[in-house]
Amino acid sequence: MKVEKPIQNIIIIGGVAGGASAAARLRRLNEFANITIIERGPDVSFANCGLPYFVGGEIKQREVLAVQTPASLKAMLNLDVLIQHEATAIDRENKTVEVKDLIQGTIRQLSYDKLILAPGASPLVPPIPGIQDPAILTLRNLQDMDLIVEKASTASSALVVGAGFIGLEMAEQLRHIGLDVTLVELQDQVLPQLDFEMATPVQKALEQNGIKVHLSDGVREFKNENGQIQSTLQSGATIDADLVILSIGVRPENRLATDAGLKLGLRGHIKVNQYHQTSDPDIYAAGDVVETQCAITNGEANVPLGGPANRQGRIIADHINDPEKTLPYPGSIGTAIVRVFDIAAGVTGLNEKRLKVLGIPYKKTIVTDFDHASYYPGATRVTVKILHCPETHRLLGGQVFGQNGVDKRLDVLATALRGKLTVDDLEHLELAYAPPFGSAKDTINIAAFCARNQSDGWVECINSLPKDGEDFQLIDVRPPPMAAASPIEGAVTIPLTELRSKLNEIDKNRPVITICAFGKMSYFAARILVQHGYQVKSFAGGSEIQVP
Ligand code: FAD
Repeated sequence: MKVEKPIQNIIIIGGVAGGASAAARLRRLNEFANITIIERGPDVSFANCGLPYFVGGEIKQREVLAVQTPASLKAMLNLDVLIQHEATAIDRENKTVEVKDLIQGTIRQLSYDKLILAPGASPLVPPIPGIQDPAILTLRNLQDMDLIVEKASTASSALVVGAGFIGLEMAEQLRHIGLDVTLVELQDQVLPQLDFEMATPVQKALEQNGIKVHLSDGVREFKNENGQIQSTLQSGATIDADLVILSIGVRPENRLATDAGLKLGLRGHIKVNQYHQTSDPDIYAAGDVVETQCAITNGEANVPLGGPANRQGRIIADHINDPEKTLPYPGSIGTAIVRVFDIAAGVTGLNEKRLKVLGIPYKKTIVTDFDHASYYPGATRVTVKILHCPETHRLLGGQVFGQNGVDKRLDVLATALRGKLTVDDLEHLELAYAPPFGSAKDTINIAAFCARNQSDGWVECINSLPKDGEDFQLIDVRPPPMAAASPIEGAVTIPLTELRSKLNEIDKNRPVITICAFGKMSYFAARILVQHGYQVKSFAGGSEIQVP
């Protein structure tokens, strides 16, 4: 006899990445559930990641960002979407949600069997004097975007506070539409999610495109001076701008969860298990609001990105529908990428700074090669940094920058991290190759060769020159014109091609450091010298990547 499942009432709070994804999957799995999405804003399932590109005019039609409407979701998926409705309280005992109609002002109670929280995170707005000025804006939804577009249309200058992913996208896009843009960042580098040397080319790209970058500085005060915002920095510098964009991070929207007594993590995110159930098994949570697990360390992680939010929403739907068949969420690794003019840069897994904080031992490797065969037209350089465990060789993180092929390398590294691969595995990854697409030895393979050369003792690499008066001979093996164009302090130039014939110019009793532009020739030189009995280290990454 067929056993009918009772019809379930499922309420979803928040109708964008995590919420809309859960709703759509739920409907595909269960045609008969009552699924209601409650969304505070006027839009549902919109493309928040595309917002900066409408500001800069790369996306021309606003309507493409409003991916769905309540009517299209009703027609396609039979979902009940209440836009401009805010969930204001959860009664866990009676399994109801209090919902306020933000237009009518009316309040009602909706009952649930299962409740999904996907309220996201709101932009941080710290209590800096003057911050409430209407020309100081944040970007989270289409209405924020409209306001920025409106203000930018009459502005000639903008200040972007915060040089993370969204800050850089906004700086680039505001520059595209001709504004005089200044970027301020509290840390000593742009893109603090990456390590210093991997973010430096991004800073160069910003500056080459006319963006003024202030690092190691923050805003102390905003003042409206006749319609212009004057920002005084902690250093005392002042910047005048018609428009200010704050993009200094996000805070989880946890009020409902806090009031309902759900367990929160140390930084206020909702704690969930591997099926994204909160401390109340009938309440699930997904997206920017949750504390998830780091798939590398198994420690806590907050990863406010679109991919995790969407996939977590899907797991919740699976678990509500059929817990037996549901695979647990494997944790997040934090893979993110940004384009800044003609440069792209991204990160996956742990960076060096984080590994240091966590006290995890690591080895690092930086290599630069071409995105496709160097003889095929249009080849450009791509730099890959990998971090791995010295003992197990397991990959811990990766970062990539360059003009082309950055996403491909980053995604390979992200897949390797998810598969718990080692650098030894990366040596023999068989990646797609024909001259227009790649090289017979891809940069990922080369990074792994380089890591293995170090662990097998074929070469010893250093990442900075000794500073404490230690004696060494610095040999610059770049071709003379290149060495003359950008001399390296204290280096003697002996081009690689002449090294074997000029061994007598190098003192065998003093340690040698070989250096070149990108770390490859200095490795070749180190191999020659070590076999002739010299004590040699090769400067990793080269002078173009890691400033000696
Ligand atoms: P959201 O998508 O923010 O949705 C939460 C929704 O819940 C909101 O619409 C909110 O109005 C609603 N809500 C909150 N509280 C209530 C309530 N009490 N009642 C009713 N509704 C409520 N990620 C990437 O991976 N790549 C990118 O390129 C990228 N670019 C981005 C660019 C911008 C400008 C922004 C803002 C974000 C970007 N992100 C990007 C991050 C990504 O968009 C988020 O990680 C993702 O949207 C989080 O999904 P979520 O479901 O948790 O929250």
